[in-house]
Amino acid sequence: MSKTLTDYTFGLFIGGDWREKIQTDEVLNKYTQEAFAETAVTEKEDVAHAVKCAKAAFSSPFSMYERYEVLLRVAQLLKNNQEEFAKVIAKEVGKPISEARGEVGRSALTLEISAEEAKRIHGEEIPVEASPGSENRKAFTRRYPVGVVAAITPFNVPLNLVCHKIGPAIAAGNSVILKPAEQTPVSALLLTRLFEQAGLPKGRLNVLTGKGEEVGPWLTSNQDIAMFTFTGSPKVGQLIREQAGLRNVALELGNNSATIVHKDADINKSAQLVAQKSFNNAGQVCISVQRVYVHEDIYDQFLNRVKLETEQIKLGDPLDEETQMGPMIDEKEAIRIEEWVQEAADLGAQIETGGVREGVFYHPTILTHVNPDMKVCRQEVFGPVIAIDTYKDENEVIAQVNDSEYGLQAGLFTNDLGFTMKAMDQIHVGGLMVNDTSGYRVDHMPYGGVKKSGTGKEGPRYAIEEMTEEKIIVINT
Ligand code: NAD
Repeated sequence: MSKTLTDYTFGLFIGGDWREKIQTDEVLNKYTQEAFAETAVTEKEDVAHAVKCAKAAFSSPFSMYERYEVLLRVAQLLKNNQEEFAKVIAKEVGKPISEARGEVGRSALTLEISAEEAKRIHGEEIPVEASPGSENRKAFTRRYPVGVVAAITPFNVPLNLVCHKIGPAIAAGNSVILKPAEQTPVSALLLTRLFEQAGLPKGRLNVLTGKGEEVGPWLTSNQDIAMFTFTGSPKVGQLIREQAGLRNVALELGNNSATIVHKDADINKSAQLVAQKSFNNAGQVCISVQRVYVHEDIYDQFLNRVKLETEQIKLGDPLDEETQMGPMIDEKEAIRIEEWVQEAADLGAQIETGGVREGVFYHPTILTHVNPDMKVCRQEVFGPVIAIDTYKDENEVIAQVNDSEYGLQAGLFTNDLGFTMKAMDQIHVGGLMVNDTSGYRVDHMPYGGVKKSGTGKEGPRYAIEEMTEEKIIVINT
């Protein structure tokens, strides 16, 4: 029997049924630090059972049009329940309610786009007859679902990143086992109730909650799972890649995103966007602006402006409409940021604003006089810290941006066409945003990184390609 959307106790969702477990976890409101939900702890046998149900469901017919209808219905249900979902996200992540509402809206859109893509999965005609000796042959390709897909998601965007996996997987005709992040499983579990209401065939979606280091290896060791789609840290991504063996793995990992502000940039606009995209969700966004390179001609003006924007950010209870930045996901993370900023200061960085921790809050921070080997530049901060550096010429700044193990997205503020074209060709990233920051994303664009930022693309159409296998049919006429 399905529960209401305001009841926050959840079992595991396996084969279309909710299974209570004796062992449970509490989910904390990240601002009050009080428990507001209870989830079940997965055991090894649950993984085997879920995969069995997913496999059985995969062998039952589920037409493209039915997939389209279910996904569209869930998108509509999500819109109808936007406020409930937004409040849950604000509590479980600590994200301001306005941002949380934005996430719910985008999640509905991700499912809507996935629904549309469900009707457009196709191969292409291949002119094999162009090869001498093949004049009498005709060929075309078709795309087939891979089977059971395991999806593992991070805490920072707990609903939309789940939709970016479940949406395309279902659109493509696969069955899914979802393992949401242990800090933020509630919105994903509520979404599961919507899939149930929308009439998703039993076993097409299974949701297992619990600790990643336990459930992860049980999933990767199950050979009936055909593919893993993971969003999270490079460390765990690497583990999954090693454990998956020859199976397909899509990895959306971290970044220490750079944005260049060139001498001809609109200073006010770029400073405003940099501040906004650095401190969204307390900087816990994979394309959060972290390294900012400002041309020396406009450095002072830009710094003043970005400081002004940053100092206006209001910290507080994520459920308060006025709040622009909430707490970090936990105090351990806030302490880590404090240590990294202190290390930078010890090595000569100047704290222009911020640099203060209050329990689980870390104040928006701007550092200058940084060098590339400080952790705040070299590694992924994943917190509300910007490191601003200056440059003289285009080649120098392109080299600075590329001096990173990561390559998800970068930003470039300029109207100089020559510089734009050079940056386009030479900056090694999955996406370059011109006259915007690294933080720009809409849900139907191809999204994914190079280098340690991962492999494979998301955005429903591109994720569907990852989640299907192409087969060529050659007919000897
Ligand atoms: P994380 O890697 O700690 O956890 C992500 C997920 O992996 C969670 O569900 C967790 O339970 C699970 N997990 C943990 N250990 C596991 C194991 N041994 N095997 C299998 N699964 C395991 O990441 P996080 O702290 O939740 O998220 C932050 C990271 O995610 C950052 O690096 C950020 O850049 C990245 N991220 C990337 C994107 C992107 O699209 N590229 C988007 C959002 C976040």
